[in-house]
Order: sequence, then structure tokens, then C-alpha cells
Amino acid sequence: MTKPPLALYLAAPRGFCAGVDRAIKIVEMALRKWGAPVYVRHEIVHNKFVVDRLREQGAVFVEELEDCPDDRPVIFSAHGVPKAVPAQAQARNMIYVDATCPLVSKVHIEAERHHEAGLQIIMIGHSGHPETVGTMGQLPPGEVLLVETVEDVAKVEVRDPSKLAFVTQTTLSIDDTAGIVAALRARFPQIIGPHKEDICYATTNRQEAVKAMAPKIDAMLVVGAPNSSNSRRLVEVASRAGCSYAQLVQRATEIDWRALDGITSIGITAGASAPEELVDEVIAALRTRYDVTVTEVETATENVEFKVPRALREPA
Ligand code: SF4
Repeated sequence: MTKPPLALYLAAPRGFCAGVDRAIKIVEMALRKWGAPVYVRHEIVHNKFVVDRLREQGAVFVEELEDCPDDRPVIFSAHGVPKAVPAQAQARNMIYVDATCPLVSKVHIEAERHHEAGLQIIMIGHSGHPETVGTMGQLPPGEVLLVETVEDVAKVEVRDPSKLAFVTQTTLSIDDTAGIVAALRARFPQIIGPHKEDICYATTNRQEAVKAMAPKIDAMLVVGAPNSSNSRRLVEVASRAGCSYAQLVQRATEIDWRALDGITSIGITAGASAPEELVDEVIAALRTRYDVTVTEVETATENVEFKVPRALREPA
């Protein structure tokens, strides 16, 4: 039986960013240096496939530091942790390695600097996301207020409207954030913020690539995990940019074939924590049903690399 033709547009850049790459390397190097088990507080990056592979190598994933023994190394995930976490590890004399992405650490430093200057901070982010919890946890309670929407901006109660700064989560929707920043500036004209926002290069580039592809395609598959903020944003960006069907899939087995019935073009991208193997798996699954022609849509090139902490570059 002849397969129907399918024009497949592959977003570039897609998948792993420099922060995720570094965080995974940190766990692998820690396992080589100290042997198994190495504890990891929270999923090192939000991807089950990555976590399962590291678990097979001897990483043990826990949610709280209390779940780690004193005598084994522990790694803090790429999303960042409240200040209390390394302080507790230090008090227990534990070996710990912080895999917080340097671009998240930059936001932590920004928040601290504003605090030292006597400003209260408004964070634009998603409630309960580990990055938001980590950034808010850099300062004492009440010093960082969270807003998630334009509506929240109207309700937020601040100490002094003339002494405010804002920071953002790194993986937000560029367009939604611009709206929230505009609302903040309208209500608090003296608010201080970063030149653009704190949304990172990887989030920006992946969203821009999706925007460029969306008008050309009948459907978009975003390879990523449901708890990955930047992956979920890619689905929203695709829908808003005019793609009539966009689905988040962790693996090829999650593809909803009925929803793809009758399509002649499709776009594929991957969130910053999704490995390329999973993109290949999805393409292979499409090839079983369609005569696929692949075109890469490159909207940016990335050459960002972050060094792993020195502790891991030195022998045990
Ligand atoms: S998505 Fe951005 S902030 Fe998050 S780990 Fe990657 S580079 Fe760092």
C-alpha cells in the first residue's frame, strides 16, 4: 500500500539547551567521581526518559533533602533551589553540587541585588514550579511576590509602589510575559526590571522557531514532558500562531493518530529538556504511516555552553 505524503518541518533550534546539557553532565560526572548512589533533589531536568536513564546508572531521585543520607553526594536540579537547601546540606556536612542553570542563578543574583537596594520584588512565574520556588526562596518571606497573569497585577499588594523591581521565570511565554510586564509598568511606573525580561535564549529561540513554522503546517508535535514549562509554552505558541492542532508528546506512543487524520504537513519541535532520541523516535513513527519529506526550519543558531562546577573537574 502506498503511504500518503507528509511534509515534515523540523524546528531548529529544538531540544536540549546548555543548562540541561550541563545538569545531565553533572549527574553523570558525579556518578563517575563518587560512584552510585548519587542523590538528586527533584528531577534533574523535567524529562522522564532522561531521569530513568540516570536512575539506571545509579542516581536516586528524591524530592527533599531530608530524604538523602548524610554520607552520599546530592545534586540540586537545573531549576534552582531556595537558599535554605544548600544551607541545610552544609549544616549536615554533605557533599553537594548545584546544577542550577547559570541563567537561573543570574535571576537569583538580580533578585538579591534589588533586595539589597531596598526594593521589594515581583516575580512573574508559575506558582509551584521549582524554578519559581527556588527564586522566591533566595529572599525572606514577603520580599518576593508572585504574579502569574495580568489580572494578578491589578490585585498584588505591595509595600511601597515606588520601591519595586521585577524578575521573571526563564521559561515563560514571551508574548504573555510582555503583557504582564506592560501591566506592571502601567500600575507601578517606577518599577525596575531587566532590559528585556529574564526569559532565556533557549526558550526564546524555541518559541521563535515554532512561530515561524506554525503558519505552514496542519499540525505540530512538541516532544516534551507535561511538567516541562518551556515544552508546554511551545504548544501554546504553536496554537496561537495559527496551527490548528498542537500536541505535547513524551514518546511516539502518545501520538494521537486520529487527530492527525488527513494532514499533509506537520511540524516537530522539542522542549529544552527533551533528548534528540525522542525526536528521532517520533519521526520514525511518522515514517511508518507516511511518505515523509523532512525540511529543517532554522531560525537561529546556538553555541552556548556552560562549564560544570570545578568540584567535578577535580579528582575525588
Ligand atoms: S531552559 Fe534556559 S534557563 Fe532553563 S536550563 Fe535551559 S538555558 Fe537554562
